[in-house]
Amino acid sequence: MNEQTIALVTGANKGIGYEIAAGLGALGCSVGVGARDERRREDAVAKLRAAGIDAFGVPIDVTDDAGVAMAAELIEQRAGRLDVLVNNAGIAGAWPQEPSTVTPDGLRAVVETNVIGVVRVINAMLPLLRRSARPRIVNQSSHVASLALQTTPEADLGGVSGAYAPSKTFLNAVTIQYAKEFGGTAIKINNACPGYVATDLNGFHGTSTPADGARIAIRLATLPDDGPTGALFDDAGIVPW
Ligand code: NAP
Repeated sequence: MNEQTIALVTGANKGIGYEIAAGLGALGCSVGVGARDERRREDAVAKLRAAGIDAFGVPIDVTDDAGVAMAAELIEQRAGRLDVLVNNAGIAGAWPQEPSTVTPDGLRAVVETNVIGVVRVINAMLPLLRRSARPRIVNQSSHVASLALQTTPEADLGGVSGAYAPSKTFLNAVTIQYAKEFGGTAIKINNACPGYVATDLNGFHGTSTPADGARIAIRLATLPDDGPTGALFDDAGIVPW
């Protein structure tokens, strides 16, 4: 009998992350609902369980070293391994935002969550992922992270972004380096572009639903052994870096 896939989704209490958790759960995964606020986390877990999903709460603030280590310990105790890690938690900071108005503290906060938070979580979860037969890491990126698109004048990326877009470009660069490190191992790591999704992040101005936005991350989280690694994808396929 196949073992149940153990997944962790950060920022899973709402928005795209919640729908990634719901989608992975519907595929039969046991899903850790990673969220920093206890009430929001438990509400999401209850809602997922009511829908028949094997969900459990994982307290995690991706900016907190000790908290992330405790999250790894919780999964160690519960499952002894991790098969799927979706680094979805993220913040926008100001949007749009001219680089000339960015403050060091503002930039630091966005990078701390969107980049350093992802590295912190991956490195804490790696020992558990290495115990999986089919480890998959998905980082939530964005079309605005693509330097190729950012330097295409006709691409509509929603305005200038002094901190958020560069933070996701940084995240893309980090993913490429992880993919090199993981070459020759079973670990696949890819980045997802969910599209322009109506969530709190953009005041619900996005044009697609969180369930639509979740689709690509779910696909990358469940790649077969001959699937790609070290690339950026949206629903339509590869997005140029
Ligand atoms: P959202 O509804 O605002 O959800 C963001 C999630 O991240 C929330 O669960 C939030 O938790 C969590 N989070 C933020 N900081 C955290 C921290 N330090 N530790 C743990 N969790 C934290 O936004 P969303 O649109 O679903 O965004 C999800 C991801 O998709 C983000 O990485 C975002 O950059 C990316 N993305 C979104 C769009 C879009 O159009 N919406 C497009 C491209 C990429 P709280 O509830 O506690 O704040």
